[in-house]
Amino acid sequence: MENIIVAKFGGSSLADAHQFEKVKNIIENNIQRKYIIPSAPGKRHSKDYKITDLLYLCSTHVQQGISFDDVFKIISDRYKEITTELSKKYEHMSSLDITKYLVKIKDDIENGSSPDYTASRGEYLNGIILANLLNYSFIDASELIFFDKYGRLNAEYTQKSILEKLSSVKNAVIPGFYGSDPSGNIKTFSRGGSDITGALIARGANANLYENWTDVSGFLMADPRIIKDPMPIESITYRELRELSYMGATVLHEDSVFPVREAGIPINIKNTNSPNDQGTLIVGDTNPIHKDGNITGIAGKKDFTVIAIEKNLMNTELGFCRKLLSILESNNVVFESMPAGIDTVSLVIPDSQLDDKLDTIIDEINRQCKPDSLEILPSMALIATVGRGMSKSKGIAAKVFEALGKNNVNIRMINQGSSEINIIVGVENNDFEKAINSIYNAFL
Ligand code: ADP
Ligand code: ASP
Ligand code: MG
Repeated sequence: MENIIVAKFGGSSLADAHQFEKVKNIIENNIQRKYIIPSAPGKRHSKDYKITDLLYLCSTHVQQGISFDDVFKIISDRYKEITTELSKKYEHMSSLDITKYLVKIKDDIENGSSPDYTASRGEYLNGIILANLLNYSFIDASELIFFDKYGRLNAEYTQKSILEKLSSVKNAVIPGFYGSDPSGNIKTFSRGGSDITGALIARGANANLYENWTDVSGFLMADPRIIKDPMPIESITYRELRELSYMGATVLHEDSVFPVREAGIPINIKNTNSPNDQGTLIVGDTNPIHKDGNITGIAGKKDFTVIAIEKNLMNTELGFCRKLLSILESNNVVFESMPAGIDTVSLVIPDSQLDDKLDTIIDEINRQCKPDSLEILPSMALIATVGRGMSKSKGIAAKVFEALGKNNVNIRMINQGSSEINIIVGVENNDFEKAINSIYNAFL
């Protein structure tokens, strides 16, 4: 059977005509790259706009009754520039009339199209352009990716549809980020969701490899916006990847792991701007680690509030934690984690969940749980140090704590997940960058 590669290209890989050319060259370099998933045009430089952000802006303008003409013009101009530039080089591109599509989309937005539909047009238009450039078929994601009436992915039907539809096409471009609901309306994944589309297509098409092309040479040991030139990670397991991406290493959407992991399809993260770099290979969870005593990566997130609760004999009080969690539930608050000791328990809650509910929650905890003490730690950051070798090699935790202590970072909370592949520390937001630097330097 022939080998199939599904290749997803992120926003920066398709931000302008020059990037489209790089993508074309990469695809044409290997005929196994049969199914291509484009994102919407991303930033060309740090001060630039992402097309998806602008499309959401159009949607809010319409909702508030404000004209969206100016915003839409920036979007139109970007696509027109891409197609005009490509036509100069590739004659067959001059027959593509992108204005026709733009007019229709503007019309739809004016007539009150849903935010999901509006946002999805970034990927849709890039898909049309790329399919024309490559001479590949264009298959709309709304015919392949399906959600149920609750907005959840209908994985089974999606997989069946992909297999059925793709078996008769030699090669195709399928836009990322969206699918359709049972009424046929467009529904998007959460932000960064083109990675999920790519994983689903790889799974459905029984691909041998899922390539995820972006603007870095693979998964790096830490966020390159915090650490200068961090070491690339050669191979990482699905579980480590999920821990790191959940904790803020946003290279790959955390939900894109499941479809390919189940089918044992490896993911290769590659750099469109440096295609010969090896990138990072994401492999099965049992793969051995080559460097004993080392870690795989560090990631973190800011802006949490920790509610630390102490009560003597808490461990013997039946239903204590249930009461605590039902207070969060009745206030509609989702928590991040709940590290606990014998007489202590902490609730770690993202600030985005709390709004102005903190006072009510504290009142209710005091009233219903009667703690001996309750402390609130605002403006906290969580940092995860992840490594599959962690459970077998001694001293990794000690090294993390020593590095933080030496650099005067106050550790306010410690949590070792039961997965035993990560250690999470809570530090103040102000210490976030310093803490990541300290841990990184300790392991290199
Ligand atoms: P794309 O548009 O291709 O999907 P993203 O912006 O979603 O790309 O993801 C790539 C970006 O993720 C990088 O440019 C980098 O700034 C950021 N990033 C955060 N943490 C890491 C990490 N540990 N390794 C590599 N990149 C990281
Ligand atoms: N364009 C979408 C976003 O910006 C999806 C993606 O890039 O994967 O979130
Ligand atoms: Mg992304």
